[in-house]
Amino acid sequence: MRYDLVIHGGVIVTADADGTVFDNGLICIKDGRLVRLEPLRQGSILPEAVTFIDAGDGIVAPGLINAHSHLPMTLFRGLADDLPLQQWLEAHIFPAEAAHITPHSAKAAALLGCAEMLLSGTTTCCDGYFFEDAVAEAVATSGMRAVLGQGVIDHPAPGVPDPTGNIAAAEAFINRWKEANPCIRPSVFCHSPYTCSAATLQAAKALTRAHGLLFQIHAAETRWELDTIRQSHGVSPIGYLDRLGLLDADTLLVHCVWIDEVDIALIAKRGAAVAHCPESNMKLASGIAPVTRLLRDGVTVALGTDGCASNNDLDHFRTMDLAAKLQKVTDRDPTAAGAASVLAMATRQAAAAIGMGAEIGSLESGKRADLIIVDANRPHMVPLYHPISQLVYTAGGADVRTVVVDGRIVLRDRCLQTMELERIRTAVARLAKAVR
Ligand SMILES: [Zn+2]
Repeated sequence: MRYDLVIHGGVIVTADADGTVFDNGLICIKDGRLVRLEPLRQGSILPEAVTFIDAGDGIVAPGLINAHSHLPMTLFRGLADDLPLQQWLEAHIFPAEAAHITPHSAKAAALLGCAEMLLSGTTTCCDGYFFEDAVAEAVATSGMRAVLGQGVIDHPAPGVPDPTGNIAAAEAFINRWKEANPCIRPSVFCHSPYTCSAATLQAAKALTRAHGLLFQIHAAETRWELDTIRQSHGVSPIGYLDRLGLLDADTLLVHCVWIDEVDIALIAKRGAAVAHCPESNMKLASGIAPVTRLLRDGVTVALGTDGCASNNDLDHFRTMDLAAKLQKVTDRDPTAAGAASVLAMATRQAAAAIGMGAEIGSLESGKRADLIIVDANRPHMVPLYHPISQLVYTAGGADVRTVVVDGRIVLRDRCLQTMELERIRTAVARLAKAVR
């Protein structure tokens, strides 16, 4: 067989359930899928292929999966820092969104977000925002894979000035993108249990259920949210969402910082997944999600960056490093959140959390060919004893040399193959002048 792409050499970190790692790999890709994945025996001849990549001494790993982003928020990177969440949202982010988010700016800023993600090894993101059509266009241009949720909120929002039309807008988005691009899967993103009414939440969930799609929501992010929901509904945010019938295996709960043992048991019982966003939670001082206890109860936990205004970057290597260390210091246990489990939260577990576990998240034959090659020759990457630890604790996004999504090379020797970075940068800088 003549393959489309053959990658040879390198240390292969498969991120499969057994944590398989092997040296000097041979990866054969056909029609966007991994079809052969094995150690390359010394002296053996490479199979026929249209394109070859020599991974050299690099580490070949699954593309990272960012389970929670708001791509157009790159426009607000560094706009308002060091503020409490409610003040940050109400005095800065919501007004900036109302004044400056248009389909044009959303697309330009999303392109920047996609460029940043690909340049730091993220091949899939799970996103939610307004004007998600513009985000989808940017993702399609970039060659990334994404689950994209049209934002739903019961306030006038960019693109949906009348909130009574928010579910219809989400449905129209789903219908436009359901079959449009094999790398894009539509979804619905409800902002939170305190900005959406019960009726809105239930209608949004019914819509995703009808289409077999992912339902995303920020939940139990802050102490303020916990108190507010308790006061108005008499239960925790997780208890409230469950009472509305929203928790199931197709629900992604973002943050889950303010949850107790009852909430954890409920999330586990319903099979909902959690997107843990340590950097955003740290920066906004929201608190620390009890990741060890969630994992103990068998909850699928994925890592997310959150939007660029509360992080302030999209480098998922940094998320992995921080997620590991934050959990260790929280639990006062250096064995907590080990490197393999953290890598899983950014790959295999993240894929499961966004409903794509059968397709992506590990290097296994039959899965889609989404992978990265990380330079292991840079001074901080030498020597290489434990490749998984090196990826989590040492590597940074800038070490990613090559990125393949769906079998297509989208980053080659740190050059984006699908986008003109200079144009993207100029466009966002121009928009930022107006924001400033
Ligand atoms: Zn968020």
